[in-house]
Amino acid sequence: MAEKIKAHLLKELLEKHAAVNMAEEEKTLQASEIRYRRLFETAQDGILILDADTGEIGDVNPFLTDLLGYSKDELWGKKLWEIGPFKDIAASKEAYEELQTKEYIRYEDLPLETRDGQLRDVEFVSNVYQVNNKRVIQCNIRDITERKRTEEALLQLAAIVDSSDDAIVGKTLDGIIVSWNSGAEHIYGYTAEEVLGRPVSLLIPPDPDGKDETPSILERIRQGERIASYETVYRRKDGSLIDISLTISPVRNYTGKIIGASSISRDITERKKMEEIIRRQAYHDALTGLPNRMLFFDHLTLEIAVANRNRKKIAVMFMDLDNFKKINDTLGHIVGDKLLKEAANRLKACVREADTIARIGGDEFSILLADIIQPGDAVVISNKILESFKVPYVINEHEIHISTSIGISIYPQDGKQIDDLMKNADTAMYQAKEKGRNNFQFYNSDLNAVTHERITLENRMRQSIEHSELVVYYQPQVDIISRKINCAEALVRWQHPELGLLDPVHFLPLADETGFITSIDTWVLHTACAQVKAWQHAGVPPICISVNLSSRQFQNPNLVEIVSQVLKETDIDPRYLDLEISENVVMQDIDLTISNLTNLAALGVRFSIDDFGTGQSSISRLKKLPIQKIKIDKSIISDMAVIPDNKDIINAIIAMSHNLGLTVMAEGVESEDQVAFLRSGGCDEMQGYVFSKALPIEGFQELIKLKS
Ligand code: C2E
Ligand code: MG
Ligand code: MG
Repeated sequence: MAEKIKAHLLKELLEKHAAVNMAEEEKTLQASEIRYRRLFETAQDGILILDADTGEIGDVNPFLTDLLGYSKDELWGKKLWEIGPFKDIAASKEAYEELQTKEYIRYEDLPLETRDGQLRDVEFVSNVYQVNNKRVIQCNIRDITERKRTEEALLQLAAIVDSSDDAIVGKTLDGIIVSWNSGAEHIYGYTAEEVLGRPVSLLIPPDPDGKDETPSILERIRQGERIASYETVYRRKDGSLIDISLTISPVRNYTGKIIGASSISRDITERKKMEEIIRRQAYHDALTGLPNRMLFFDHLTLEIAVANRNRKKIAVMFMDLDNFKKINDTLGHIVGDKLLKEAANRLKACVREADTIARIGGDEFSILLADIIQPGDAVVISNKILESFKVPYVINEHEIHISTSIGISIYPQDGKQIDDLMKNADTAMYQAKEKGRNNFQFYNSDLNAVTHERITLENRMRQSIEHSELVVYYQPQVDIISRKINCAEALVRWQHPELGLLDPVHFLPLADETGFITSIDTWVLHTACAQVKAWQHAGVPPICISVNLSSRQFQNPNLVEIVSQVLKETDIDPRYLDLEISENVVMQDIDLTISNLTNLAALGVRFSIDDFGTGQSSISRLKKLPIQKIKIDKSIISDMAVIPDNKDIINAIIAMSHNLGLTVMAEGVESEDQVAFLRSGGCDEMQGYVFSKALPIEGFQELIKLKS
């Protein structure tokens, strides 16, 4: 019994408990129902509840009604296959069976047609479960249309990027490469593996100016700037350089923050080459390859600016081939063209590197001589041209004699503008034609007269050696106390056929300008050394010979060779040769002086510093040089009576020279007073009219006989 009661009590207890549980369960159920409902209503996926058995729509959440374009009421109670959207899974009752029978179905990508006929891509998941003895199907529908489109767009983009011939490169704001397409592989020769994670500066060639523009470009990108069609030179993996055109844009993340840069670069090497060809064609004459009128004007504009700044002169030469038309007409255009080409080559050979020759028209050429010192420089070139045209042209077995007429205008005196300079050179050219062709004329006719004289003299002078018109005079250099002749200075004279005997002052400046002075110097050196040898043969007591070296000869790279050659040919003891180098020349380029003097001293030759006291040098600067003698300039000697300071200067030079162990000679000594003063100061030697003028060889030999 007790058992029964116990069991009853227990049952009661259990039932009570169950009742309590039921009530609580009810509450919890209600709460979860509310939560579910809220989720259902606000879900960002579509949710559809169906009666599994009938296929009728029981519930549909707002997201899905929005997506489908039907209202909840319209859908309520409809069978799934009766409405349009779910054609692919529930086109008919039979098709629907699959949903009905399977507990769980998932379609990753299903088309859904909305009420207005749009196709959406959805992910579809269905679950079948029991609610209150009823089987329901819950369908979750996620709209993946946008995601799919983005994915597809990305795939397409990747395909585009990869199929592009341009290099498309992504980098961080620090310039680290993060993407690299096949175009980049092709253009730069690096594979993606080789460059990813490396700095983009790997592509930048070492710039001779040391400027890598990457940092400044990255800075502009950071500021949000897009840099379009920026042309630069990059370096390939194999080290070769490549012209490229770059467009660089900032890359932003979804918040709009700049996180990197993307660049598209294109190989423009070919385009550059084409541009260069076109540029050349635009600026050059196709037949001769010379600059054309346009380029000539460009150069002229530039040179005028330079000349203006440096206060220099420019010569514009205008030339035209004489009677070219006749040749063209009689021998034909092919011969004419070849002749023009040949003429262009000859012209090129007549000018300096810095000058411009252009073909201006048919048989017209222009030459721009930049940075000339004087109009005479244009004469030198004109003569060269006229000379070079004297040699007949041989073209297609025709021997063609052709000359040219040249007109010259000088900037700035004949015009400050291009037009004036060209017009005036042209006018001058017509004057040259009128004067019988095959000559040149300056626009400023005064120049013609001056240069004419100069040219005649120059031409004559160039022949003076061949025509044996140069003569050496000898002036004794004597011991100031004993007046014994130690040496003779060789001084050149020119026996001009018309003008008579010319002193150096009348022709050496011109010889210096034209460069002929080096030939004169070599000739004098040879003649004087040969004279020493002749005296030795004749048994005359040995005296040394002083020979002057001009600045140009001193700078002659062959100087040492010339002197040693002369010594060899004349076979004299080098001790008898004293080379006089003017103080100014010695100080001009001290490195050259040291090297020249060292090399010449090695031959056994001696040196005097000529015209000392006229330049800026101090005796102490001469200390390092292997020299033996200082010659005090004649202007200091001749002025010592009128400029009292000179006496102090002379005494100081003597004292300091002696200090350095150098012999001192006074030049241009004309009076016994001067001799007395120099003797009292301790001067060692003298040269001057007080003892003897420079004499021709016969006179000098008489003098030696007399004095010895
Ligand atoms: P220099 O080398 O200083 O030569 C001395 C010049 O002074 C000579 O003039 C000489 O005739 C002149 N002279 C000598 N004693 C007296 C005098 O007591 N009073 C006056 N008033 N003059 C005197 P020259 O021969 O006319 O030569 C002038 C310059 O021409 C030389 O000056 C030298 O620089 C240059 N020269 C002469 N011959 C040559 C040469 O063969 N080659 C080079 N490069 N230059 C030479
Ligand atoms: Mg001299
Ligand atoms: Mg002198």
